[in-house]
Amino acid sequence: MKNPIYSISSECSGCKVCAEICPKKCISFYEDAEHFAYPRVDESLCIDCRRCVAVCPQKKATFNFVKEAFVGSHSHNEVFKSSSGGAFWALCQILIPLGYVVIGVKWMDGFKVAYDVAFTLDEAQGFRKSKYVLSDTNGIFQKVKNLLKDGKKVLFTGTPCQVAACKNYIGDSDKLFLVDIVCHGAPNQEIFNKEVNYIERKHNGKLESFEFRQKSPINGKVNSRSAKYVVNSKEYYVEINDDPFLRGYYSRLFYRPSCGTCHFARPERVGDVTLADAWGVHDILPDLDELVGVSLLLFNSSKSLLLLPEIRRFMSIRNVDKEWAISTNLQLRVPTRFHEYRCDFFKKIDVIDFEQNVRACTRVSIKMRIRKYLGLTIKKIIGYYKK
Ligand SMILES: Cc1cc2nc3c(=O)[nH]c(=O)nc-3n(C[C@H](O)[C@H](O)[C@H](O)COP(=O)(O)OP(=O)(O)OC[C@H]3O[C@@H](n4cnc5c(N)ncnc54)[C@H](O)[C@@H]3O)c2cc1C
Repeated sequence: MKNPIYSISSECSGCKVCAEICPKKCISFYEDAEHFAYPRVDESLCIDCRRCVAVCPQKKATFNFVKEAFVGSHSHNEVFKSSSGGAFWALCQILIPLGYVVIGVKWMDGFKVAYDVAFTLDEAQGFRKSKYVLSDTNGIFQKVKNLLKDGKKVLFTGTPCQVAACKNYIGDSDKLFLVDIVCHGAPNQEIFNKEVNYIERKHNGKLESFEFRQKSPINGKVNSRSAKYVVNSKEYYVEINDDPFLRGYYSRLFYRPSCGTCHFARPERVGDVTLADAWGVHDILPDLDELVGVSLLLFNSSKSLLLLPEIRRFMSIRNVDKEWAISTNLQLRVPTRFHEYRCDFFKKIDVIDFEQNVRACTRVSIKMRIRKYLGLTIKKIIGYYKK
């Protein structure tokens, strides 16, 4: 092959920026047996310009050091419409009135997860809340370039690998504001399609909406690992034990291979701002409820710090030690470790029923239960003697 983008396909994070930059449009995508998309170069058209290699975020990325870290939340109402504390929405409220166009990820027809463009706050509503599926970039990098060429300012949001792709594709621009969303991994669309199919069969009807990180209490408690969906106008609230997708997702069973060696799970960040959940904040600021939603905001560039007074207009935020912030969020330090039965799951992905496959792979053995029980007991004993 004249120009292989990868020697090992599992290095590819699936952002598809290589195909967008190709002057000969000779890069297409094929799905492997796990249903993840990888680039394929048509050698008869390739002119070996290597622009696909130069733009690839897995091969080249520029990072910023965190300058300041904050935790905080938007108003109660907005927090309930957000996964964490509503920091993304505050940025939209600040930047859209200043003429920014927002690029984010939303549910499209048929529960496809893909990038889109929003010119108004109303249009940006669809980007709110995490969709735990690898989004289709959908030609978005060229759209960003066109918007900038037309003199528009752009707020680009996405997983760190997608933000790094955008940064490589566009190059330096004062008019581009990048926000990377901390990510522990994403499954492919086909796995979510199997979830849709499972729900529709279970309730004998059409799935009308699906919401991860729903915040209504279940059995009196908010559970961040729950979802709400609607079938035949009836609402259902599910937790890990009731739903195969949630169970597999939070068990780290079916992420893209590149997520296991993620180059962006590190303290240095690709975005001007990094957004995440402020897990562990309750230990240092007991009045904050991380289950309902507290954002962690990392400010990584001089232009991001200029937004601080504006953010305070919409959110109540407090300065925290950046070392603390990095130490409490695993994805700011190391990539996710996959579930030990990931391979077994994918071997049977199209062979047996989705729910059965997830259940079989995530069943907790007696050995694992004993190990977990011992771990918790040791932690309790250490905690007791520390007091
Ligand atoms: C796949 C995924 C994994 C994540 N893993 C972690 C984690 O391990 N630890 C952690 O602290 N935080 C994680 N997050 C981030 C967290 O869930 C919140 O999205 C983030 O804190 C922003 O929350 P918010 O309340 O400010 O706004 P929200 O309204 O919740 O955030 C919406 C933003 O997320 C973007 N978005 C939604 N779905 C996707 C998607 N599939 N791909 C790319 N962008 C998307 C939207 O475009 C928008 O910019 C993850 C998010 C995603 C999408």
